[in-house]
Amino acid sequence: MNWDEFSKWGARISGWAKNYHSNIRELPVRSQVKPGEVFNALPANPPESGTGMEEIFADFERIVMPGITHWQHPRFFAYFPANATPPSMLADFLSSTIAANCLLWQASPAGTELETRMMHWLRQSLGLADHFEGVIQDSASSATLAAVLTMRERALNWAGNAQGLAGQKTLRVYCSDEVHTSVDRAIWVAGIGGDNLVRVPISGPLRGMDCDALRQLIADDLAKGYLPIGIIACVGGTGAGATDAIDKVCDIAQEYGVFTHIDAAWAGSAMICPEFREFWPGIDRADSIVFNPHKWLGVQFDCSAHFIRDPDDLVRTLAIRPEYLKTEGQDQIINYSEWSVPLGRRFRSLKIWFVLRSYGLEGLREMIRNHVKWTAEISAKLADTKDFEIITQPFLSLFTFRFVPKNAKDADALNQQLLDRINDDGRIYLTKTRVDGKLVIRFTAGQFDTTQTDVDMAYDVITEIAAGLIVDFTSQ
Ligand SMILES: *Cc1c(COP(=O)(O)O)cnc(C)c1O
Repeated sequence: MNWDEFSKWGARISGWAKNYHSNIRELPVRSQVKPGEVFNALPANPPESGTGMEEIFADFERIVMPGITHWQHPRFFAYFPANATPPSMLADFLSSTIAANCLLWQASPAGTELETRMMHWLRQSLGLADHFEGVIQDSASSATLAAVLTMRERALNWAGNAQGLAGQKTLRVYCSDEVHTSVDRAIWVAGIGGDNLVRVPISGPLRGMDCDALRQLIADDLAKGYLPIGIIACVGGTGAGATDAIDKVCDIAQEYGVFTHIDAAWAGSAMICPEFREFWPGIDRADSIVFNPHKWLGVQFDCSAHFIRDPDDLVRTLAIRPEYLKTEGQDQIINYSEWSVPLGRRFRSLKIWFVLRSYGLEGLREMIRNHVKWTAEISAKLADTKDFEIITQPFLSLFTFRFVPKNAKDADALNQQLLDRINDDGRIYLTKTRVDGKLVIRFTAGQFDTTQTDVDMAYDVITEIAAGLIVDFTSQ
């Protein structure tokens, strides 16, 4: 393809993008294809000769689009949102066009320096103290891995990297069962072993760690000769929004000299609104915090903001400086590849810059406040509806509920059936989780084009499909 053609197709695709977003409400939110449909529509062998873009694009529309679940649909109430706002898409297009690999300062000074400035902007936006420095990681999973490696090496005085873990004491990390599975994976990958991820029981309406139990577990482990190295706390857990008491967790961490990593991948964005910061009291005492602007802040995936109190510990853990990566005489500059597991880095700060400037913090706050308000409203309406029960109250814009008609024998199976019917219907998309062993349906609002009408429609769809289920039950 030559650049003239590229330009023609670029314009055509941006027109397509506009139409896609204008008509997106007509599409079923969750893809309705069967397993294997897309795979089988694709030829088994790669082409020997090239094809024109017209044909490629037609196939894209015919084969790929039906297999897409529309994450940018305003009635996407599943998982957590992954907003791609227009300014972030444009920035990502520019970043793809320039296609600089921002691994070192020298590899693109603007990549590094815009990143430093954007992390300072985000730090201020969330009301975090100046002592945090930040880096953009590809995902919260990577940030958590980097944090776990840092807590490991800090506790071992950097002997783990050099000698491995074989001769060391058994390392122990503490968290509740409500943390994201990326924590388990980080623990596996870091060689700590899943058995040494100690699960602290939860208590209270926010489903946070029982801090007395946490303290006791650490004390018991010390008595057994284990080496406690860190606590991983969550603010807005993925299942039902579980939130640990950060100040109390930090007290305990300080008492035992262990590292704290706070996973606020989703909820962190809400902290641009000062009124929500009560959910992470004492956050400035944490060693490491991650949140994903690519979830609720409108910055196109992937973009995960990782704040760290002492970047020297992180860099000492992850930096490798072979000769070809040495930048002589420039010790003051930052090479962000030394702050993360991958070496290569996309130019991600550009999309943060575009989004923050385009919406302003006020614009973003309004979006988040609406989602929280509408979520509270639909939750209250469902609570007042016969046969529905709110299982976990709204935390920001997430709550869980269950459909529990009187004669229902197997409530788990019934709720699974309700969920499947809702998602097959296509007007809205919801997902599930387990709360205290029970299968529950999650609702979360967070897409930037969502309106109150979309949320009202979610209530109508849920109750209408549930009513149909009752009819089917009683006629059986
Ligand atoms: C989404 C989420 C993650 C994983 O985020 P990735 O960026 O996809 O790795 C981790 N923790 C929480 C609480 C999440 O909501």
